[in-house]
Amino acid sequence: LSERLGSVFDRLKRRGALTEADVGEALREVRVALLEADVALPVVKSFIAEVRQKAVGTGVLRSVTPGQMVIKIVHDHLVSTLGAEEAPLDLNAPSPIPFLMIGLQGSGKTTTTAKIALRLKQKDRKKVLMASLDVARPAAQEQLKILGEQAEVATLPIVPGQMPVDIAKRAMQAGRLGGYDVVMLDTAGRLSIDEALMAEVAAVRDATRPHETLLVADALTGQDAVATAEAFHKRVGLTGIVLTRVDGDGRGGAALSMRAVTGRPIKLIGTGEKLEALEAFHPERIASRILGMGDVVSLVEKAAETIQQEEAEALARKMEKGQFDLEDLRQQLRQLKKMGGMSGIMGLLPGVGKVKKQLSDANLDEGMLGRQEAIISSMTPRERRNPKIIQASRKRRIATGSGTSVQDVNRLLKQHQQMAGMMKKVSKMGKKGKLPPGLA
Ligand code: GDP
Ligand code: MG
Repeated sequence: LSERLGSVFDRLKRRGALTEADVGEALREVRVALLEADVALPVVKSFIAEVRQKAVGTGVLRSVTPGQMVIKIVHDHLVSTLGAEEAPLDLNAPSPIPFLMIGLQGSGKTTTTAKIALRLKQKDRKKVLMASLDVARPAAQEQLKILGEQAEVATLPIVPGQMPVDIAKRAMQAGRLGGYDVVMLDTAGRLSIDEALMAEVAAVRDATRPHETLLVADALTGQDAVATAEAFHKRVGLTGIVLTRVDGDGRGGAALSMRAVTGRPIKLIGTGEKLEALEAFHPERIASRILGMGDVVSLVEKAAETIQQEEAEALARKMEKGQFDLEDLRQQLRQLKKMGGMSGIMGLLPGVGKVKKQLSDANLDEGMLGRQEAIISSMTPRERRNPKIIQASRKRRIATGSGTSVQDVNRLLKQHQQMAGMMKKVSKMGKKGKLPPGLA
């Protein structure tokens, strides 16, 4: 799929400014990408419409191709729709703070209840009490008790035969008496939304007035995500969403669907069965996953700030011919300083982890860049073009001129050699299509 997107963006690259037709063409592919990522159809439609409105008429940055510009607009809009701001759990309420956990059966409510309890205990130093209101499944209350023992978090003693609302009230009472900061209420789910479930959850809500009402939803949910989120939000009212099974191989479309229809933030994500497998939600990661483009977008972003297309192209030609001289290195060092160093850029490219390691072995870090630039500046233009002529006496002169030592000069020359070699390799990879256009 990303290949398909890549080819559209390639075609766009060769044109001038973005026309409505160009945007339309790119967005048709984006639409397919979203559907393949399991974003619900109505959400896809409105998302595409919003991006179209933004994209047409937007000026194209000089340093990026129109196609890259479209990726950037799509990506930025996706991130802002997913929620650019981090949304932590809200603990700003009098104790005990009730948390209500709701969702379909098997979505991960009970596990997530214990995960959050453990997190509140460890990170926020809160005293937490958990209670299972799931009287539908025989072993459900027992399950939470066992998880509580694992996490070393208290659970409400089980009283057989008690109904959910009564258990909830008892939990709040125990929370008050026991000096707990947070009381987590884990509810029962059904395989699909039904009135009995909704009525039960709403009754518990009315009895406890929860401060956080978290919808626990499986990231692998496809087109149903919208209906589920909408139903719970309308009937019970959500403050946030916890997406589980983000460790699975879903493309994360449910995140966009649920966020879009409820307007509520995704607060946390579950990334495994273990109680520690709970993380803050990072919209950029899910956005890239949905679009299936790795970190290409952040690369475009960085490039947009610093690289001029023309310079990059000239450099690419030199790299291909193996003519990367010290003058080029000096120019690059200046740009690299802006872009967070060579390792910063290389780390963003898919599949160059090895090259990156070699580079950091070569010690091409930010701190070095200024000194290296000084060394090159102390050379004559002829020396920069043809480093081979730099022998002992020239090295001494350059070292003195740049306030460094002959060893520093030697090191720089060696690094330039290594770098030129690596750039040749990277440029070959670019030809095979592993690098985004314009940076190969
Ligand atoms: P509930 O019916 O909503 O209470 O769901 P459970 O908490 O009982 O979870 C159902 C299953 O999903 C269990 O086997 C959990 O271990 C598993 N599970 C929950 N969250 C995650 C997650 O983030 N990743 C993975 N891989 N499994 C999870
Ligand atoms: Mg459960």
